[in-house]
Amino acid sequence: MQSAEVRRTFLAFFEERGHTVVPSAPLVPANDPTLLFTNAGMVPFKDVFLGTERRSYTRATSCQKCLRVSGKHNDLEEIGPSPQHQTFFEMLGNFSFGDYFKDEALPFWWELLTKHFDLPAEKLHPTVFEEDDESARIWSKLTGRPESAIVRLGAEHNFWSMGDTGPCGPNSEVILDRTGRCLRDGSDCDLTCDCDRWWELGNNVFMQYNRAADGTLTPLPKVGVDTGMGFERMCAVLQGVDSNYEIDVFAPLLQRLRELTGDAGAAGERLPSERAVVDHARALSFLIAEGIVPSNDGRGYVVRRILRRASYHGRLLGLEEPFLAQICDVVIATMGSTYGELREASSRVLTTVTDEETRFLDTLEAGLNRLERAVSEAGATTTLPGAEAFRLYDTYGFPIDLTRQVLQARGWDVDEAGFERALEEQRARARADRAADRASDEALLAAIGDAPATAFAGYEMLATDAQLLALLRDAQRVDSASEGDEVELVLDTTPFYAEGGGQVGDRGRIVGANGEVAVESVRRAGAGVFIHSGRVALGSIAAGDPVRAEVDEAARRATMRNHTATHLLHKALRLVLGPQAKQAGSLVAPDRLRFDFLHNKPLTDGELREAERIVQEQVMLDRPVHADVLPLQQALDQGADAMFDEKYGEDARVVTVDGGEAFSRELCGGTHCRATGEIGAFFIVDQRSVGAGVRRVDAVTGVHAYAWLDERRRVADALAREYNVPVAELPERLRAVHERAQASAHQAAAAALPDPAELIERAEQRDGSLLIVDRVDAADAESLRAFGDELRRRAKSAAVVLGAVFDEKPSVLIMLTPDQVQAGLHAGKLAKELGKRMGAGGGGRPDVATAGGRDAAALDDALAQARELIRGAG
Ligand code: ATP
Ligand code: MG
Repeated sequence: MQSAEVRRTFLAFFEERGHTVVPSAPLVPANDPTLLFTNAGMVPFKDVFLGTERRSYTRATSCQKCLRVSGKHNDLEEIGPSPQHQTFFEMLGNFSFGDYFKDEALPFWWELLTKHFDLPAEKLHPTVFEEDDESARIWSKLTGRPESAIVRLGAEHNFWSMGDTGPCGPNSEVILDRTGRCLRDGSDCDLTCDCDRWWELGNNVFMQYNRAADGTLTPLPKVGVDTGMGFERMCAVLQGVDSNYEIDVFAPLLQRLRELTGDAGAAGERLPSERAVVDHARALSFLIAEGIVPSNDGRGYVVRRILRRASYHGRLLGLEEPFLAQICDVVIATMGSTYGELREASSRVLTTVTDEETRFLDTLEAGLNRLERAVSEAGATTTLPGAEAFRLYDTYGFPIDLTRQVLQARGWDVDEAGFERALEEQRARARADRAADRASDEALLAAIGDAPATAFAGYEMLATDAQLLALLRDAQRVDSASEGDEVELVLDTTPFYAEGGGQVGDRGRIVGANGEVAVESVRRAGAGVFIHSGRVALGSIAAGDPVRAEVDEAARRATMRNHTATHLLHKALRLVLGPQAKQAGSLVAPDRLRFDFLHNKPLTDGELREAERIVQEQVMLDRPVHADVLPLQQALDQGADAMFDEKYGEDARVVTVDGGEAFSRELCGGTHCRATGEIGAFFIVDQRSVGAGVRRVDAVTGVHAYAWLDERRRVADALAREYNVPVAELPERLRAVHERAQASAHQAAAAALPDPAELIERAEQRDGSLLIVDRVDAADAESLRAFGDELRRRAKSAAVVLGAVFDEKPSVLIMLTPDQVQAGLHAGKLAKELGKRMGAGGGGRPDVATAGGRDAAALDDALAQARELIRGAG
């Protein structure tokens, strides 16, 4: 069965049984700080399981892109040795949200596996959690085996969690006996043996709990089912091959790789490297297509590490030039029809991979040199210290196995325990940071308790009456607070926008009967509870008070201008640079907007001006702006732009800027102007690079645009008055002024030099030739040299030694006439001697040379020495 058929069979089976087919969500999970990457099919449904999000269906099925390189599910070290693991894989799943449970879920799977995938029932071995009698009973009925024959396993095998926190529950795996005997020793091993006899095909998780950071399990409002079947593993079984890497999905990738390495087919020790390269090429293509760029932390660091690992494995296969993009190219060509994001991002994926691999190959050289040096400085030992191996890993991006490999060639080894220690220290530091963040958030959530989601009234109103549901100080609930106290407030309804989608939270005030709180920031915690942070500015405030919540109108209006302008700018940049110049992030504040987008090089002045002009044109056309709530799919079908790391539910808010065809349409929860004319004015004030392949522009609108322009106008006017020319002629006039100033500086420098005739006059006579040794007041090396030339020309036969001080450092120029060179003097050698004396260095040609030093006080000494040396030369 071809892979596409496997996918289709699974999804159709569940669709026929009332499941909604849901497209794969991105690898970057929406708004979930607990998870770097989607690591299972259930991740996009996390909130549905937790009961904080509702969908129109209670049964779903999907084929979800997954990545397991970090956190609880990390298979990175398996890649290469394991025939059945990848970092990137697809997971087939069916889900029940408070709908069916074990008694329907397990029969679904049994029917699918035995009737539709036609696997022999006797080779399938279900396992259950040790306390789960019900599942054991169901499996016993389905398989016709006694209940005692259903294998029960403890929590380490059969209790599944998404991460350290989040939904979890007991599970039931289905394991395939591929060979009937142990692949290690031929015995009849049991299914917990880690030999390749047993393959876990998939898993039914019975979602029952939510795990908190401290490990406590809270029952979910409704139990559910979450299943995961390894797509590639299933393909391998159905295609009758012994490894995921031998299925049709990987064939073209391996073929391209083998064309490059010149191997017909890999065997033995080359196999792990081949697997690593093709697996990593898939992971990289998808990650970069989703907008992640290589960097030194977070998701970007994962991209970087995977790429280096892949490149290193390529090197082990004999590839020394960047090659990864060629494998990614095949990934895009073969998977792009199923995953359109690959096609769309094709050129960006390839350039990013090439750039990053080229850069790695550069640091690879530097790292190898560093390693070389460490080895030569190590003295008697033949073990590289762990700290050094860690430095190679941390600074030069050397995986420890690369370090090991390089050292092996010379009979060295690595202090691996020391390396692990250094690594663990680094991890502990990172963990401590994370734990601190989590602890404060957890405390706050605990204190808020079961406060209902805050109703947001801020799209329509800037002030509302509200009830103060909770008042907190230091994440503890308090009854009241008084002037000066830092507080956090939860209201039943609020006009304050909570930070999100790049837009900062609103400022303003919350007024009670006896005082008021100045609100400085607002954020969302837990399931949609708005936390207003600020200080009691006046009197006191008490929990339960009726209050009036008022947003700072000027700041909010300025923010709205910047947000609407951000949408216009996003569109304008794509019109100017092409559709790949997608948004990579943004910050919308009252005083400015910052916009990051995918682009590999600086924008030219022309491009910047054109983008600015397009935005300003839309402003002047005063386009209506409106927001509509639509089903997500409908919004996407209409071409609305979505940000990958934003959270979208089933329904999406779409912000449209009209203009015949919509000028811009984005999924966005932010607050916007009613029409583009409110923006007033728009200027781009800066651009720069913020990492590989990402550029940032800063822009201003409204009053801030006016202030920015006004400042420039006043400066220009002042200059125009000062120089008495029209503003338009300022550049030319200033250039002229500058040139004149430079010329007169040169003249002044020349004037400071002594009269050459005078120096010749007092020069020492030496066998009919002159010895001129003097300290002069030259402005720079150039004028010193011109002066030396003049002396040499006038003197006809001479040795000229001139000393000067530039930037507080001594400098000596030596010039000889040709006859002096012939007589055996050598300016270069003399300069070298003087350089030594002055503490820096010197050298040059036989007739002209210079020497420098560190301390101006050494100059006179050096000149005296020069005199001695030349005199002594005969
Ligand atoms: P394993 O023990 O084989 O690593 P798991 O227990 O980690 O699997 P689950 O979290 O239950 O796996 O995921 C469900 C299914 O996804 C697995 O049964 C397997 O078929 C597949 N799967 C899990 N990890 C990988 C991987 N790294 N590569 C390919 N398929 C995988
Ligand atoms: Mg696993």
